[in-house]
Amino acid sequence: MSAQSTASTFDKDFEAPEHRTVGAGTEGLEVSDASRGDRLAQMRAGTLGSIHSWELVTAVDGPGTRMTVFFAGCPLRCLYCHNPDTMKMKDGESVTSDELLRRIRRYKAVFRSTGGGLTISGGEVLMQPAFAATILAGAKAEGIHTTIDTSGYLGASCTDEMLEDVDLVLLDVKSGDEATYTKVTGRELQPTLDFGRRLADKGIEIWLRFVLVPGLTDDVANVESVAEYAATLSSVSRVEVLPFHQMGQDKWKALGMTYELGDVEPPTTELLDRVREQFRSKGLKVY
Ligand code: SF4
Repeated sequence: MSAQSTASTFDKDFEAPEHRTVGAGTEGLEVSDASRGDRLAQMRAGTLGSIHSWELVTAVDGPGTRMTVFFAGCPLRCLYCHNPDTMKMKDGESVTSDELLRRIRRYKAVFRSTGGGLTISGGEVLMQPAFAATILAGAKAEGIHTTIDTSGYLGASCTDEMLEDVDLVLLDVKSGDEATYTKVTGRELQPTLDFGRRLADKGIEIWLRFVLVPGLTDDVANVESVAEYAATLSSVSRVEVLPFHQMGQDKWKALGMTYELGDVEPPTTELLDRVREQFRSKGLKVY
């Protein structure tokens, strides 16, 4: 998909940023030629970031038309990751905050007319907290609606000051059961739960997302744990249940990585209905 195309061409079920394959790159952004030493200093200062790609999308990644920027680097290793090429920060392109904000400003009129804005996704946005803070503050200063898409695993890296510049969080809760969470991601669940609680305490809007993988995350008790948790967060305005699909498999092969879910089928309509109903029964709005 080119950077300028919209995600409206995707099947509705596959639209969330972490659940579609991205690969348009940094076309239209000038890549920094700073030396390695300078790059590290600038990254620490939040004036340089490592970016995998960006795209303009409509009706996904938040309200209205959005510029979604995919940061490179992620601490998780989700078995179903659709963009394993975003996992390593070193594989991204170095782009300055000035350059990225220049590009973001170009779409201000589009954001205004559609009720859209900026979404930072990944990879994991909080792998580069200083750069994220600079971009979010720069966008807010322009009156642009801001969203971050995160697993919450690095929530402790997100300062309160940064959160003041965030309007909406797409919070990916990959499982409610600790053992399943670790099996899916290779990491622990608690940091995500803590981050979601912190967002709710601050009244920051959350769209909570859950990827449904038959035989991996579909256990009734596992779903129930996520649903019960979501229901305790007062700022969750919607839940998105995303059906697993195989669209990212080729990237794993191309990267020489072992993909373990090759034999898994997408969930049936019945299974999707059951899981969505588990969330609805807690009074949550489900999409
Ligand atoms: S959080 Fe998981 S799905 Fe998202 S980029 Fe990282 S490994 Fe991939």
